[in-house]
Amino acid sequence: MSDKVLFLEYVMNKFEEVAKKIKLDPKVKTILSQPKNEIIVNFPVLMDNGEYELFKGYRIQHNNILGPFKGGIRYHEEVKLDEVKALAMLMTIKCSLVGLPLGGAKGGIKFNPRNYSQDEVMRVTRRFTHSLGDCIGPNYDIPAPDMGTNGQTMVWMMDTYMNTRDQGSRHNVRGVVTGKTVECGGTLGRASATGTGVVMCIEEWARGCGLDLNGSSFSIQGFGNVGSWAAIGLVNLGAKLTAVNDHTGTIISEEGINVHALREYVLENGGISGYKDFEVLERDAFFKHKVDIMVPAALENQIDVHEAKMMDVKLVAEGANGPTTPEAEQILAKKGTDLIPDVLANSGGVIVSYFEWVQNKSSNYWVEDKVHAELKRIITTAYLEVVNTSNNHKCDMRTASFIKSFEALQHTYAQRGIFP
Ligand code: NAD
Repeated sequence: MSDKVLFLEYVMNKFEEVAKKIKLDPKVKTILSQPKNEIIVNFPVLMDNGEYELFKGYRIQHNNILGPFKGGIRYHEEVKLDEVKALAMLMTIKCSLVGLPLGGAKGGIKFNPRNYSQDEVMRVTRRFTHSLGDCIGPNYDIPAPDMGTNGQTMVWMMDTYMNTRDQGSRHNVRGVVTGKTVECGGTLGRASATGTGVVMCIEEWARGCGLDLNGSSFSIQGFGNVGSWAAIGLVNLGAKLTAVNDHTGTIISEEGINVHALREYVLENGGISGYKDFEVLERDAFFKHKVDIMVPAALENQIDVHEAKMMDVKLVAEGANGPTTPEAEQILAKKGTDLIPDVLANSGGVIVSYFEWVQNKSSNYWVEDKVHAELKRIITTAYLEVVNTSNNHKCDMRTASFIKSFEALQHTYAQRGIFP
């Protein structure tokens, strides 16, 4: 598999390719080629054994011409500056693509939360938030959950931020993070939003190519937030989950895997290994397994040349960010495999995060049906626009997504100019 450091290179190469293709204004290209701010903090945290451990946290603010910086916070032992820079740029592209008044950012801490107690993870989160200080804010930079973080993490971040504000303005700053639990100011439908958005894109794709999802088969890599909710959504449409891979192994069943029981098992045990009497298979078995639809929903660079050569699927719908390398994408394209790119397929998360932010700003709550209907309207419109762009430019959907996104950013820069 390719070295993960190359992920930033992949994103930058795609940026260069599309900038050239659409003759992107050189001023705009210069601005977008680097993040506006790169924040790195090192902070000590008290461990349960009474000792202090030093952690390294990142917040990369790529661009905010369309609105406040926006993007997830990742807790993973392989978090590094280049990776976060690439992910922050993808957020700028994603928000612009789906027409949100938000910019792009990403953050993370280099550690594996599974190796720490809940209290320790809480203290890491609070110290990180405090170290970021005014570098985040409800009108400036709004973090959200990503890999290794969840609603509870966001509530700790919100609470820490709130408690550093003066008494009178604490309740005005709930929107400093999104993806919070509903009890603490989150929106209905946020936890499932990214997976649901993936399924909405798959529905449009199936309609376009005349495939009946009822009776189709699918596989999922990563059975966390995005993967498990995508699986539930597809099963609700009559599709059958026949293979799952995560950091603990692969399980396969031609009869179909019960998504609700597996989700409960993973929430309790942290991985799929040991679920019922399933044999735990090698990673390759997952990629060799023939299905109609594969949803990678774990890490970047998971589908490389080795995996693409083994795969026999009609569609890859990228729940994760950057799961397919460019070389793998070419192999899949030659095989006739369709691909819905990350910036479109997993945009449901940031779309519903935007709804949460709007609700927090207006001290209002939306019913879940409204969240669902608005998500469907925005993501379906974006999907159809990307298909149109791809037809007009005779290009794949990732290139079309970048084109649409950069054109929108270029129009904004053309009207606003560059200060001073
Ligand atoms: P999560 O922490 O809830 O789940 C991550 C999953 O990946 C777990 O099932 C884990 O076992 C699996 N995994 C980790 N390392 C792996 C490996 N080496 N091989 C196979 N599986 C592995 O994370 P999540 O929030 O579901 O995020 C997953 C992906 O989706 C990430 O790329 C993230 O950037 C992207 N994403 C998440 C959101 C969101 O709202 N959470 C939004 C947009 C994009």
